[in-house]
Amino acid sequence: MAEAAINFFKADLRSLQFTLYEHFQIQRLFEYDYYSHMSREECDAVIDQCYRFCNEVLGPLNQIGDRVGCRFENGQVKTPEGFREAWKKLYELGLPNFPVPMAIGGFQGPVSVHVILQEMLSGANVAFNMYPGLTHGALELIAEFALEREKKLFLEPMMNGRFSGTMCLSEPHAGSDVGALTTKAVRIEGNRYKIQGTKCWISAGDHDLTENIVHMVLARVEGAPPGTKGLSLFIVPKIRVNDDGSLGEPNDVVTASIEHKLGINASATAVLNFGENDRCEGYL
Ligand SMILES: Cc1cc2nc3c(=O)[nH]c(=O)nc-3n(C[C@H](O)[C@H](O)[C@H](O)COP(=O)(O)OP(=O)(O)OC[C@H]3O[C@@H](n4cnc5c(N)ncnc54)[C@H](O)[C@@H]3O)c2cc1C
Repeated sequence: MAEAAINFFKADLRSLQFTLYEHFQIQRLFEYDYYSHMSREECDAVIDQCYRFCNEVLGPLNQIGDRVGCRFENGQVKTPEGFREAWKKLYELGLPNFPVPMAIGGFQGPVSVHVILQEMLSGANVAFNMYPGLTHGALELIAEFALEREKKLFLEPMMNGRFSGTMCLSEPHAGSDVGALTTKAVRIEGNRYKIQGTKCWISAGDHDLTENIVHMVLARVEGAPPGTKGLSLFIVPKIRVNDDGSLGEPNDVVTASIEHKLGINASATAVLNFGENDRCEGYL
């Protein structure tokens, strides 16, 4: 018999509002130009919408998702049933883009409210929220540091949920000691590099929620000094993206396996091989 989806998530909205408006008095932010388009009513409406999404969609998927977990089939990770619909709904609501600057299409809302939204989303279903969480982190990096071409290719699809993101730091022999990593980058031309190496424990490293996955990969450029000083960060899409934004050929990023963990089983923690066939391209 199919297991019934039960929501165990509850939040004390009054207590969240006390923290935001009485303790931190975030309404004072609305006096600044950057937040002048926001109001308490608007923030409360977004919090209510997020709470509804947590109760109706994410909460009921939590227990079943953890029990079923992700599956690794034919070299591809499959998330539990219901995750794809939840992802679509989350990006239709636009909740992940609440703090993103309006200049790149976000709502430009206060980060303190974003923290409350994250608290609720993770409280309802932390395994699910790892996917948009990692995407948001990668998006912020690209918005802040990438060149114009990469911003044009990756930001919009990462904001509308077509692409997701990751952070690829850890390697089998380099966890806390991140400066020991050996993934290497060899320059092709301009900011294009060939990437080669293995990353492990990569949250959201592979899944079936999006058309593409944009990996943020730490690697050492040939000839760079040892330790953390010699590391650079590259944008490495799972599938290459053409200049018109359409998807191109696979980028030689192969999922080797996923971990079997004690919890957050619906969050894929992957081992990824970059450039096994010397055809993996990254952008500095
Ligand atoms: C569920 C999960 C998801 C993850 N997701 C990602 C991800 O998305 N991307 C990514 O890049 N990585 C990810 N990681 C990897 C994570 O970042 C590493 O596990 C972490 O950096 C620790 O590395 P390690 O596991 O190799 O442990 P180690 O570095 O071997 O540490 C083992 C123990 O030794 C201690 N230790 C280490 N060095 C010292 C020292 N110098 N002095 C004293 N004590 C020390 C540590 O505190 C720890 O208790 C994930 C891990 C998990 C479990």
